[in-house]
Formats: sequence, structure tokens, C-alpha cells
Amino acid sequence: MDPYFVGGRIEVFDSYSGVQNARIQSLQVDAEPFKRFTATVRRTASIAPGDIARWRLPAPTVKNGLLHAPACDDLAGAAAALSALDTIRRMPRLGNVGILLTKAEEIGFVGAIAAASNKTIPKNARLLCLETSRAFPESPIGAGPILRVGDKTSVFGPELTNRIAEIMQAHTRDNPRFSWQRKLMPGGTCEATAFCNYGYLSTCLCLALGNYHNMHDIDGVAAGKRPAKIAPEVISIDDYHGLVEMLVVTCQHLGSATSPVMRRSLEKRLRKFERLLQSSS
Ligand SMILES: [Zn+2]
Repeated sequence: MDPYFVGGRIEVFDSYSGVQNARIQSLQVDAEPFKRFTATVRRTASIAPGDIARWRLPAPTVKNGLLHAPACDDLAGAAAALSALDTIRRMPRLGNVGILLTKAEEIGFVGAIAAASNKTIPKNARLLCLETSRAFPESPIGAGPILRVGDKTSVFGPELTNRIAEIMQAHTRDNPRFSWQRKLMPGGTCEATAFCNYGYLSTCLCLALGNYHNMHDIDGVAAGKRPAKIAPEVISIDDYHGLVEMLVVTCQHLGSATSPVMRRSLEKRLRKFERLLQSSS
């Protein structure tokens, strides 16, 4: 991310007069506890510690089914969770579905670690972490919301992940227009790694994200082929609605008894080919 900063245009929301434009002039990579960026503003008197700055980017727009916005990460996940809850709260027997919003995700999901460590969450909870995750050619934007089986660091709870895959397969059989993906998204690490590590049953649902963390053409920049340019983040509107649907359907079926479909198919195969295991002598 470092090459993207110096020269980048930002807007600072000050506590008095509104928005001030500025450009980042320097970066101190080894400052603690955070890297330090310097930008010059015209009215320093109105700037106070805690004021927020963000990249100066065009207002959000929808073009060809894609939302281009200054930030989709983690807003899209939070919006999808709230939209799903709006539907779920009107459904019978789903009174135990809730949303936990945690802070400091970009610093390494510190709020989620605290929630796991403080036992804020009941031990028998099933945790579906929501993310936007860097899109790759094999997990593209627009091919449906993603059941994320793991991240850069670990694989998630197999019981929960496999159960959601079964629910989604059944849902797609009944609704052939619905598309979803089952992928490992190695672009970063997410809360499910932390929750699984603290003994919770957890997995992740996510949206493929373009211009991840506002970085345009990460691979081109890393290869030295083009200058680092800040750009709006991108998600697919259909993927977003798919994620809301995935959440609602998953919550509806997660409580029902698991069907032994996989075991039955394995046993059938064993019966059919068992003789191949017998000694040939
Ligand atoms: Zn992020």
C-alpha cells in the first residue's frame, strides 16, 4: 500500500468548517504505533485530533451493475447484515440471530479478537463473518457472493462451512438463477481465523472486491509496470443482493438437521467399487 500514499489526494473532515482538501506529502513508514502521513491544510486552526481524512474520490455511482464507491470495505458487509436482519426478524423461530459489529478491523480485527477473548459471544454461537475480499481471476466480481472456506492464514470451521455449502447447493437446485461461489480468498486474513482460534465455530461469507483498499491494479504496481493510483472500490450490485439472500437462506436452514447426503454418496461408491480393494492374488 505504501507507494499509493505520497501524492495522494485526500479530504479532511474538520470539526468546524467542513471539508478541506489536501495532498499527502510524506510518509514515515517506521512510526509507532501507526505509520505517519503528512499533508498540509490551509486552515489548521479548525483541525483537531480525531478528525477523519479519506481519499478524495468521486461520489458513489452505479455503472453496468457495479457500485464504485470511496469505500465498500467493510460497509457492504455491515449493510448486508442489517438488510438480512430486517427480513430475518420477521421470520418465525429465528429470534436468536444477531449481529455483532466490531471495531478496528483494518488494524487486524482487534475488536473481534477482544470479543472472542472476553467471551462476549456465547460459546455455542455459529459465527458468519462478513467481508469484502480482494477479487482474483478465479473469484471474480459478479459471479455471486462467496462462501469463503479460508483466508491467507487458516481454513475455517469445516462443519459450518460444509453445512452452508449444502444449504447453498439445495437453494441453487430450487432457484437456478441464483449463483454463488465457494472459494479460498487469500488476499487477507479475516475474523473467522480469530474466532476459530478461540474455539468458536466460524466461517466467512464475502463479496469479491475490486480496487481492494482503493489500490488500482495492485499487481501492475507491484511489478513496476504502472504508477500507483488511488481509485474507488468496486462491488457488484447482484453479488450484494446475493449475499443478503445467502444470509437469510443460511439462517433459515442452519438449525435444521443435517442430511447425510455426502455420507450416503460415499457409501454408495464404496459398495459399487469395493471389489477393487480385494487382493488380486
Ligand atoms: Zn479491508
